[in-house]
Amino acid sequence: MKTALLWDPGVLEYRFRPDHPFNPKRLELTVSLIEAMGLLDGTDHCMVPLRPATHEELVRVHAPEYVAAVRRLGAAGRDTGEGWRWGLGTDDTPVFPGMHDVTSLVVGGTIRAAELVMSGEVTRALNLAGGLHHGHRDRASGFCVYDDLAAAIAWIRAAHGARVMYIDYDAHHGDGVQGIFYGDPDVLTLSIHESGRFLFPGTGFVDELGEGEGYGYSLNLPLDPSTEDDSWIELHRDLIPAAAEAFRPDVIVLQNGCDGHTLDPLTHLRATTRLYEETVRTVCEVADRLCGGRVVATGGGGYAVWQVVPRAWTLVWAGLSGQEAGNDVPRAWLDRWQGESPVLLPERLRDLPGEFPAVPRRAEVEAVNRRTLESLRRQALPLLSGWGMGF
Ligand SMILES: [Zn+2]
Repeated sequence: MKTALLWDPGVLEYRFRPDHPFNPKRLELTVSLIEAMGLLDGTDHCMVPLRPATHEELVRVHAPEYVAAVRRLGAAGRDTGEGWRWGLGTDDTPVFPGMHDVTSLVVGGTIRAAELVMSGEVTRALNLAGGLHHGHRDRASGFCVYDDLAAAIAWIRAAHGARVMYIDYDAHHGDGVQGIFYGDPDVLTLSIHESGRFLFPGTGFVDELGEGEGYGYSLNLPLDPSTEDDSWIELHRDLIPAAAEAFRPDVIVLQNGCDGHTLDPLTHLRATTRLYEETVRTVCEVADRLCGGRVVATGGGGYAVWQVVPRAWTLVWAGLSGQEAGNDVPRAWLDRWQGESPVLLPERLRDLPGEFPAVPRRAEVEAVNRRTLESLRRQALPLLSGWGMGF
């Protein structure tokens, strides 16, 4: 099996402000950790450069007026007064110089990943800079200017007519991707996230099932804010293989936001690094069984830049590329970065079982989550049984 890691230092320019939580440093840290751990060695794993998305690729999923506005504002380098119309110039998603060019590079990277997978050159590909799942058709939101995932899915549909299953386990609901394909029965979107009652963007409830012909092809599992690994993994194993069996995708597009980790400063979920290994394993098993192993993967959220993101995404890459990662973070990597890090860098790739205190109301949280899955089953049942779904 061949796998590709998409990388280009040009994506480090995707930076809103020096103090903004969406910090591209995490990408540099992750790529250097993957290299230091030897997970790009050998002939089966390669690093592939990104390329910018074309205008045609952008307007497949974005309004031409929105793309024109992002170009204008990016060229001005500041909000000239029209930002509010396009979700730009906010605290979350301020205008920054060159924003059109660098976001086009991120989008082109995820499309390049899809090209490599769909042509059969590689089985799986990972664009760490991608995962901008809050980008809407005519509006920026939540640190996302364009939506690389939607653009890659639309490219797959246009170039190959393939059925796409989109899986998103970022702590935030994948509202941009869901919205763009809400009426499309050939794209199944499935998002597992912290409930919108407690977290941005405030959507992603079980009754958001799609519309028109796409009704039944949008699945959401909102989690209790204090969800830990065991409950999350149990729900994942119940839902993902069953939904995939029913839908029969030709390819899986996977968003690997790691902001559900207990150390993440922006969310309330309580996952550890174990979640990322388990989730990727489950998704790869499903892909191997149903769609020739094909997975197009991206990064996503992740705001514990030094302590969590490099380790979580190194585990994601190891899982996608079928490699067993060791557990020692190489001394050379620690020496290279510790001086810059505001916190002590972990020396183990994986968190230890019991490293973080248990949630006192664990049983209650698990019960709430099970009830939510039951509710999704009940609400989606008439639709899912129409697909011959037996979960
Ligand atoms: Zn997120």
